[in-house]
Amino acid sequence: MSSLEYTPKNCWEVYASGKDIRDIENLAARYIAFLTRCKTERETVDYVCGALREAGFSSDTGTDKILLPLQGKAVLAARRGRQPLARGIHLIFAHTDSPRLDFKQHPLQEQSSVGQAKTHYYGGIRKYQWFARPLALHGVAVKDNGESVRIVLGEEAGEPVFTIADLLPHLAGKQMDQSLREAFDAEKMNIVLGHRPLFKEEAEPGKKRGKNGSGKESSKDDKDEMKSPIKANLLRILHERFGVVEEDLYSAELQAVPAGPALEVGLDASLIGGFGQDDRINVFLALEAMLQGLPEQAAHTQALAFFDKEEIGSEGSTGAKSRFFEYCVQDMLRRWEAETLFAEVMLSSRGISADVHAATDPDWPDLHEKLNAALLGYGPCFCKFTGSRGKYEANDAHPEYIAWLRGLLNRAGIPWQMAELGKVDQGGGGTVAMHFARYGMNIIDCGPAVLSMHSPFELTSKVDLYATSLAFREFLNAE
Ligand SMILES: [Zn+2]
Repeated sequence: MSSLEYTPKNCWEVYASGKDIRDIENLAARYIAFLTRCKTERETVDYVCGALREAGFSSDTGTDKILLPLQGKAVLAARRGRQPLARGIHLIFAHTDSPRLDFKQHPLQEQSSVGQAKTHYYGGIRKYQWFARPLALHGVAVKDNGESVRIVLGEEAGEPVFTIADLLPHLAGKQMDQSLREAFDAEKMNIVLGHRPLFKEEAEPGKKRGKNGSGKESSKDDKDEMKSPIKANLLRILHERFGVVEEDLYSAELQAVPAGPALEVGLDASLIGGFGQDDRINVFLALEAMLQGLPEQAAHTQALAFFDKEEIGSEGSTGAKSRFFEYCVQDMLRRWEAETLFAEVMLSSRGISADVHAATDPDWPDLHEKLNAALLGYGPCFCKFTGSRGKYEANDAHPEYIAWLRGLLNRAGIPWQMAELGKVDQGGGGTVAMHFARYGMNIIDCGPAVLSMHSPFELTSKVDLYATSLAFREFLNAE
């Protein structure tokens, strides 16, 4: 009877050979470097474009390897296959954004002798996780002459980091009795930027400073005269370091993200911990699949499409609900195959909505339905439907397509698992799958399982990383 029963395979057992272990470690090292470097959608798209340009991709849609970025936050890359576009494209979609804290447009304030930046959180965060930890600033400020200034601070050794101060336990009595929702007020998520005041003679360089360079003799009265001396000092530093003035912050996108590198986790170093693995793990793996180990020309045209704004509903011109994807395919059609209809391409295309899946949490197994829950180390996880409250707003992948995919992976000996997100009515979530399903293509969610999802330090398994890279390669290359 046992052969009739399905048993999921642990990838560590499947990939136990010396060669596989070496490949797993090599891939993990490259991924850790990528994750350390790419903490915003812009940094991610920059990395992707750099790697693809090096491999000969360009914005010339008349060639066979095209690369079309949008606003530095979304990108589509395609490589022409042997068969016409009318036979469909093999597409991998993923998202470049992650939950974090954005600076407000008027960020700077000074209160109780501390200079702070006010924030507006982006995406689904658990607010308490962002207090009392080192943060780095990443982003751009665009001047009114159009010059874009890249800002990254708090990542290199010797650079200062930033933080949000948390309430001391001695004064947290009332907060302890509140619900999580009440206890952590988004308007109190203010980032400590500094606390040294600017003295008047520093603001007016012509005027002589006092002893020790501190201006202390004459400074007290001068400081009282200045309205916000700490904020003034922050502006002085921002100007010296990045050449920006306060008004430039109104046309800026500054993000506070966890400072420091992604790391190996565990005594056996079998896990990877880092910020933004949802969904940069899939951006990285899809890119790897496109660039490593594919024949010069696969059967179908292959494309990667990476979008921003997934964490806030896929809205905006760089989100998956925009027309960008459509414009890109129309462009390819015009240059490669003018007689083929857009609808014909879409209806014969196959897609993977490459997004992470919730791994069963060893401390909260009761929130998952064991039979239909993903486990770390069991390979890429297919999710037939997402949504919530009775599959509402779900892409529900067709069984014919799932059968084709599992046949593909089974023949290649790549382990995979099938799961759904938590118990029914426990919560739920969505991905970009439904936005592309509307074109008529076959599409399903698939990606590695993640522990501590949406936290500042998400965890993935090295062996899932490896198995998923093989699965994506198999998919792009399939007949
Ligand atoms: Zn995601």
